Amino acid sequence: MHSFIHKHLNALADIFYPKTCFGCSKHGKYLCDSCRQDVIEPDINYPKNADFVLTSASYRHPAMKKALRKLKYDSASDIAGELAAILAKDLAPYLKYAQAPIITAIPMTEKRRRTRGFNQAELLGQKLAENLALEYRPMLVKTHETKPQAEIENKKERLENVKNVFALKKDARVPPFAVIVDDIYTTGATMNEAASVLKKSGVKKIICAAVAR
Ligand SMILES: [Zn+2]
Repeated sequence: MHSFIHKHLNALADIFYPKTCFGCSKHGKYLCDSCRQDVIEPDINYPKNADFVLTSASYRHPAMKKALRKLKYDSASDIAGELAAILAKDLAPYLKYAQAPIITAIPMTEKRRRTRGFNQAELLGQKLAENLALEYRPMLVKTHETKPQAEIENKKERLENVKNVFALKKDARVPPFAVIVDDIYTTGATMNEAASVLKKSGVKKIICAAVAR
């Protein structure tokens, strides 16, 4: 019942506050097909503990920046869906021949998740899994609060800040292949730390994926 009402409220909201493109203000989507083509610039990096990290766009692009802020502060599942679709398209070729991976996300501390009401990385991960018809499986927990990585300039301090901050979720079934999802990839310290926990737990193949870098 709840989701039924929610769905209809969303439909009403669309009538009164129609979505407009962050790039060109066209109605319909947050990133229209044409602006999406402009923001997509896939890139691959190689963190130590993962096979590679794929990012789809640059955070510097104004439309992408607005989309990611919307995701972070509004928890809108439709923006999560649009961004996950972008990531899914870039990621799909890498998943084709391998054993099916599970999708997981960079966690928040339980306390922070409760205060905020959602975790945008988790929203993205769930939408990505839906889009690729794969299983979404929470694998990691964040054990204590950290300073936002973006507020730390020194690379060494960034590494220190996230060191030992993740642990394997209690009773998590360990898959052979996992994709770790986050919204933004900065220096890679967070992804690398999360990947190291999965690697130590026995995950053989790890891909990291973030919407923007
Ligand atoms: Zn547009």
